[in-house]
Amino acid sequence: MATETHCPYCSLQCGMRLAAATGSTQDPLPARTALEVREWPEFPVNKGALCRKGWTSTGLHRHRERLTQPLVRSAATGELEPTSWESALDHIASRLVALRDEHGPDSIGVFGGGGLTNEKAYQLGKFARVALGTSQIDYNGRWCMSSAASAGTRALGLDRGLPFPLADIEHTDVVVLVGSNLAETMPPAARHLAALRARGGQVVVIDPRRTPTADQADVFVQPVPGTDLALAQAVLHQVIADGNVDDDFVAARTSGFAAVQESVVSWWPERAERVTGVPAREIRALAALLGSAERAMVLTARGAEQHASGSDIVLGWINVALALGMCGREYAGYGCLTGQGNGQGGREHGQKADQLPGYRMIDDPAARAHVAGVWGVAPESLPGKGRSAYEMLSSLGEPEGVKALLVFGSNIVVSAPNASFVSSQLDALSLLVVADIVMSETAARADVVLPVTQWAEETGTMTNLEGRVILRQQAITPPKGVVSDLGILRGLATRLSSPIEFGDDPEEVFVELGRASAGGRADYAGITYQRIREEEGVFWPCPSADHPGTPRMFLSSFGHPDGRARFHAVEHRGAVEQPDDDHPVHLTTGRVLAQYQSGAQTRRVRDLPDDGPFVEIHPMLAGRLSIDDGEVLRLTTRRGAMTAPARVVDTIRPDTVFVPFHWVGANLLTNDALDPASRMPEFKACAVAVTPARSRSGVSE
Ligand code: SF4
Repeated sequence: MATETHCPYCSLQCGMRLAAATGSTQDPLPARTALEVREWPEFPVNKGALCRKGWTSTGLHRHRERLTQPLVRSAATGELEPTSWESALDHIASRLVALRDEHGPDSIGVFGGGGLTNEKAYQLGKFARVALGTSQIDYNGRWCMSSAASAGTRALGLDRGLPFPLADIEHTDVVVLVGSNLAETMPPAARHLAALRARGGQVVVIDPRRTPTADQADVFVQPVPGTDLALAQAVLHQVIADGNVDDDFVAARTSGFAAVQESVVSWWPERAERVTGVPAREIRALAALLGSAERAMVLTARGAEQHASGSDIVLGWINVALALGMCGREYAGYGCLTGQGNGQGGREHGQKADQLPGYRMIDDPAARAHVAGVWGVAPESLPGKGRSAYEMLSSLGEPEGVKALLVFGSNIVVSAPNASFVSSQLDALSLLVVADIVMSETAARADVVLPVTQWAEETGTMTNLEGRVILRQQAITPPKGVVSDLGILRGLATRLSSPIEFGDDPEEVFVELGRASAGGRADYAGITYQRIREEEGVFWPCPSADHPGTPRMFLSSFGHPDGRARFHAVEHRGAVEQPDDDHPVHLTTGRVLAQYQSGAQTRRVRDLPDDGPFVEIHPMLAGRLSIDDGEVLRLTTRRGAMTAPARVVDTIRPDTVFVPFHWVGANLLTNDALDPASRMPEFKACAVAVTPARSRSGVSE
């Protein structure tokens, strides 16, 4: 017997089957059973295909570094030492109560993750606001897709990453990928690009690096990092100049076009060429391609979004899609390719500082009344909006800041921008608690480490990048000594004398989540575990048991009260930090095929290559700096420095270097400037000095 479940990593949430290598049919399998991954060909998203990470995902099962006992840092030795669950939870609760009594509930912070199941994300938000009474909860989705979420909400009235199934790509005519390396980050999805091209459609890739995705493209555009909005403005300028605006659509289904038209008047392609480095003829050709397409899709990802002006960049590209009349039509429109496994569901159900379940806003009295009613508490007892993720981390140690931090499903030390500053902030805490499956870099700094179940050992729902709610089913019994995140929240809530009980049965939590989300923008009320099993996932919104779910959104109306989409006049600002004499090169960061996010999981999987970080540098720049391939380089920004070997490649712009972020290093360099709307840090562009790391003796440092 094999259990149908889903990959533990990215937002594609590929379907897979897990079975005992021995052929055992026990359900769930005993903890020590050797697991093997098998195809699930009927699951429509990936049809049996998995990337290397998916095939090796059982590599953390029975791993020697797996944590199986709570650890508390000894006051005497300063070391993390094993203890019992009772003692660990008692210790945490007594410290939290003492801090809350002395400094108030907002002295306690909760930091969640976009990889947590919907049930965990929901329960974490409820735990923070009811059991702790704190407003200070946010999550690492701020690092990931929050700019697209902000822009989608403002322009289309609702943020669902892709408002259509991913397979719709095959039926469009032109797809524009802005800052997405789909072929390398989620290879099973790249088959849709191949199918589109086989039909005669065209793929456009916009990226400062010629990635494996760009190698599959018909059109490749290579702008300077941080200039995507200037490019979008110039494309729209040219679409208008060519007379390719869909006037009927704009009049019937949108508002605000006149101001946007005015805002792009001066973005003639030659001006954009000077800003973006993209030749004017390429900009005109792209505008003509889009203007002549019957159907076109614009899809953004982290390359466009992880900027201090990321929301405006996305709005600029949505303006292009709206002007062409593409949104709200079948096989066309705008979408965001969300990154983390539950990046979509994780931002819908209450672990974000300003939101309650169902994508309700926490400062909306009606939303507070509804959710408080489901939770059985008074609306006025719910705290208000808290700090965003990076602002919460910046507050650690300040007189009015957070003094105790509970971290679930996140490895802040590797993944936060300006990471050395963030690490020093963690040291200022009175209490740091980390729940994880292995000793991540963040767990290693904690006062208490709590070992938790991993994906195959528990059941829960995720919402993939299409808005499809899927069910990860438990295949195997957890090892002795580990507890689910839901179990931890239950244990802590009891010790904190929470006014309401916290259950730890995932299906019961999901039923409650459905009620809490009912009537909200992300309405899950009609979704059940049984329906997900029978229907291969259910697309939200799904407000009732007899509702079929919503694979395609906006076909008759956008999410704003008047049903119209909104154009937004935005202005190109560029990267906050521009190259200068001291830091003369652009730095951009990103992912590689074999690793996932902070690498806490994938770096420990034996069958995934881990060569450590590297620096991609163009032969022209390498020649100017007398750098050889493989030579260790020192990269220095205004925030920190790292060393890594050079990879001299002609796929990167000559004025830019690239470093992957799965190891401690890249984020020592990145800029913590925040987008004013989404509070997303500027991971994707800063200024860097590149030098050989040779000491005076000629030996690398
Ligand atoms: Fe897992 Fe994503 Fe790879 Fe699919 S593409 S197997 S979900 S990491």
